[in-house]
Amino acid sequence: MLAILHPNTSLDDDAYRQTMHYLENLPGVSVRVHEIQGASQRLTEIYLLGDTKSLDKEEIEALPAVERAIRISDDYRILGRHRDDRRQSGFTYNGVEFSQSNLNVFAGLCAVDVPEHVEMMMQALEDNGEVCTRMGAYKPRTNPYSFQGHGKGCLPWVFEKAGKHGIKVVAMEITHESHIEEIDTCLEKLGRPTGVMLQVGTRNTQNFELLKAIGRQSTYPVLLKRGFGITLNESLNAAEYLASEGNANVIFCLRGMKTEAGQPHRNMVDFAHVPAVKRLTRMPVCVDPSHSVGSREKSPDGVLDVMHATAQGVIAGANMVLVDFHPKPEKALVDGPQALLMNELPAYLEDIRLCHDTWKKRQAIYQRLKGEATE
Ligand code: PEP
Ligand code: MN
Repeated sequence: MLAILHPNTSLDDDAYRQTMHYLENLPGVSVRVHEIQGASQRLTEIYLLGDTKSLDKEEIEALPAVERAIRISDDYRILGRHRDDRRQSGFTYNGVEFSQSNLNVFAGLCAVDVPEHVEMMMQALEDNGEVCTRMGAYKPRTNPYSFQGHGKGCLPWVFEKAGKHGIKVVAMEITHESHIEEIDTCLEKLGRPTGVMLQVGTRNTQNFELLKAIGRQSTYPVLLKRGFGITLNESLNAAEYLASEGNANVIFCLRGMKTEAGQPHRNMVDFAHVPAVKRLTRMPVCVDPSHSVGSREKSPDGVLDVMHATAQGVIAGANMVLVDFHPKPEKALVDGPQALLMNELPAYLEDIRLCHDTWKKRQAIYQRLKGEATE
């Protein structure tokens, strides 16, 4: 059961104290409090866990600080969508809104290499009005002898450049909990010129200790990649791990599944799951067409497979695109062959806008149908 308190309820209110006293004394029930800071108000959600079957919804709703109660199912308790659950999806971070109804593009380098390339990338983003990017500093690699990223050494100049070009959010994968502090210390020292979204890679989707460490902090939102060899349910549970530790600002990223059947693509593109994740949870959903498709192949229509895959995800309602670009792919240290080029950025962004608008128009068609049915 979930009890949602009246907006802006203060922890000093008598109503709050009385409510908590009642809930904490329910036999066999444990209580977890979640604070959500929205743009205009603070919401407190109280999760009642354990032996909650016999609890009476009306009785909980009668408590002085409670606005309404929702009976939640066992799966994805915090991030899931439950019956009669009208809670909003998403969050705002560093001035950028993330929700199940809008769209942000994170084009950037798979791996940070030299300042000149980072500069060119960020300049191109600024020229095109983009405020988010991806920049890998810690790279998990299949082969132990491959380049593993510049690590904390590159953070100061990457963050400074981001600030200079008006980038508000940098998606950056971390592979160890110590990287959270490295990023935080660096940003703090620089006066926080930009923000960071911590990325959990597909190889770490079920690294539960890493998930718990990331979930314990709420400074940075999280981009969780779907595990490439596990079920969707298992990956969604990994997201719930983050939320259960306190950080529910999570975006779920589809990035293709590892199977020989995916060929000629690097992975089997799984973007038909965009609406499924939105139905099952309240998380904004990201698609990563670069790591799904994995090449610059194009079909006779002249459109790259990476662009077609992006279109499929966005037209189905994706809320974020994470995509590899590089000014000189032949010099990229990681994933050059799948990178899009700087001169492809404007057309790509136009294509994405077109698909996002089309998704909105598609919704309107079916809303009309629903209207006719109830007339
Ligand atoms: C990445 O986005 O840089 C990456 C390594 O992706 P994945 O974890 O999905 O392979
Ligand atoms: Mn990569």
